[in-house]
Amino acid sequence: MLNISQNEIFQDCKQRKAFQGHGWLTQGPICPTTGAMDSRPIQLTKTLRTPADLAAAGLIAPSAIPGLTTVGTRYAVAIPPALVQAMTSAGDEAANIARQFVPDTRELDVRPEERVDPIGDIAHSPVKGIVHRYPDRVLLMPTLTCAVYCRFCFRREVVGAEAALTTAERDAALAYIRATPTIWEVILTGGDPLVLSDRRIGELISALDSIPHVKVIRIHSRVPVADPARIDDGLIAALKRTGKAMFVAVHCNHAGELTSQATAACGRLSDAGIPLLAQSVLLAGVNDTVEDLENLFRTLVAARINPYYLHQLDYAPGTSHFRVPLERGQALVQSLRGRLSGLALPTYILDIPGGAGKVPVAAGYLSPEEDGTYLIRDPAGSHHSYPPSPP
Ligand code: SF4
Repeated sequence: MLNISQNEIFQDCKQRKAFQGHGWLTQGPICPTTGAMDSRPIQLTKTLRTPADLAAAGLIAPSAIPGLTTVGTRYAVAIPPALVQAMTSAGDEAANIARQFVPDTRELDVRPEERVDPIGDIAHSPVKGIVHRYPDRVLLMPTLTCAVYCRFCFRREVVGAEAALTTAERDAALAYIRATPTIWEVILTGGDPLVLSDRRIGELISALDSIPHVKVIRIHSRVPVADPARIDDGLIAALKRTGKAMFVAVHCNHAGELTSQATAACGRLSDAGIPLLAQSVLLAGVNDTVEDLENLFRTLVAARINPYYLHQLDYAPGTSHFRVPLERGQALVQSLRGRLSGLALPTYILDIPGGAGKVPVAAGYLSPEEDGTYLIRDPAGSHHSYPPSPP
């Protein structure tokens, strides 16, 4: 169990109240001087990995430990200090951030429509560590470890369970890429590739750099928000071991995750010449209001991160409490179109269950009429006629 020493804790009293109002941080350590429960946010130095850790940090009530121990045995738990700090800095939004990471007994409620492998990774894996779903690109998953374990993860059945690929497995995966000339883009994902050592990341990047038909390397990571200090000079030097186009896609679902440290970490990547994209998941109780999404996308763009995809939640086991109905997602995206610059609007996207691929699912704006004209709906919901193309 994590032992939080009394001088590791607390900066500001009033923000703990936001957690208390939502059921988190229900109990804090006792002040050594007054004997009263300290009411200021926790400053942690270690990742929380068990329900007992969470209770000691005040993120759950001690009475919740037995129920959440079953959840934690089933699905990996890890909340790094940077995300605890993000919660404690988020005021009234703290609970929306916490829901993504604090386990919940509803995760044991598996619905018939939910799948162990929701987007068909297994069916499209020719070699361990590779998913080859589209002709021109592959996923390369060098590790299934993450800095944080999200409660809604579509790979929740596999993340946290295995170590990194062995050297032989990694070499076999690279050999597959080298032998498949249609592969134009390699997406390093997992797990989170940026939890690997600088040496291992550098070796991977160098190996991909040496394959002539690979033109683009993309890295999917939650590390810039979950462990911003990891984005240091050594890691950036490892990423720069290629002259090929490289993008880092940051997984971020709430503006509050972009603390000053996370924003600075993203800035270091941008300053190194690595363009940043964002992937976000539409999640009930986290970001399912127009205001939350607008704030998220504006904050991303201001941090030099291009909002790329807003994902409809995949049907992973035990995630129904996060699911936003598709029609509601369409209405939210439609409202955003009237409020946000196109620069800040991601594509609302759905992965077809089973692995048939991604499709955009925003509501249509155009419908053909019998006379050859089109009826176009504007962001406010009014309709306009659009003339047909000349013959
Ligand atoms: S960081 Fe990504 S892969 Fe890891 S648990 Fe979260 S969503 Fe899943």
